[in-house]
Amino acid sequence: MNFFERLKQWLDRLFGRDLWLVEHCEDPPEVPRPRRVYLVGDPGLQWAAAFLCPCGCGELVKLSLMRDDDPSWIAWGEPGAKASLHPSIWRVRGCRSHFFIKEGKVVWAKEARPDRRLPAN
Ligand SMILES: [Zn+2]
Repeated sequence: MNFFERLKQWLDRLFGRDLWLVEHCEDPPEVPRPRRVYLVGDPGLQWAAAFLCPCGCGELVKLSLMRDDDPSWIAWGEPGAKASLHPSIWRVRGCRSHFFIKEGKVVWAKEARPDRRLPAN
């Protein structure tokens, strides 16, 4: 690897460090890594998403990707791509965080402490 390739790799790491990336797996990992959205299932058919809550509470958030479930989410991305989930994630237990994951970034919603369940949006 020449100097410029190493420099590019270093810059990629430096600027991509806070991005949330997609990983595919058959089962949710026992020790999930931070800033990873695990899409659980078989290639082409993922039925759940799992990731560590971005607030730092340490809880593993699990979301259904099955259309017939309510609530359910849409997630997309090839392994290593920037993660996106739709709609927002609004935790009704524990830390009650409310956030979006868009293009590899966590965007916090204004309503951080909801008094009601996740609205269907
Ligand atoms: Zn949390």
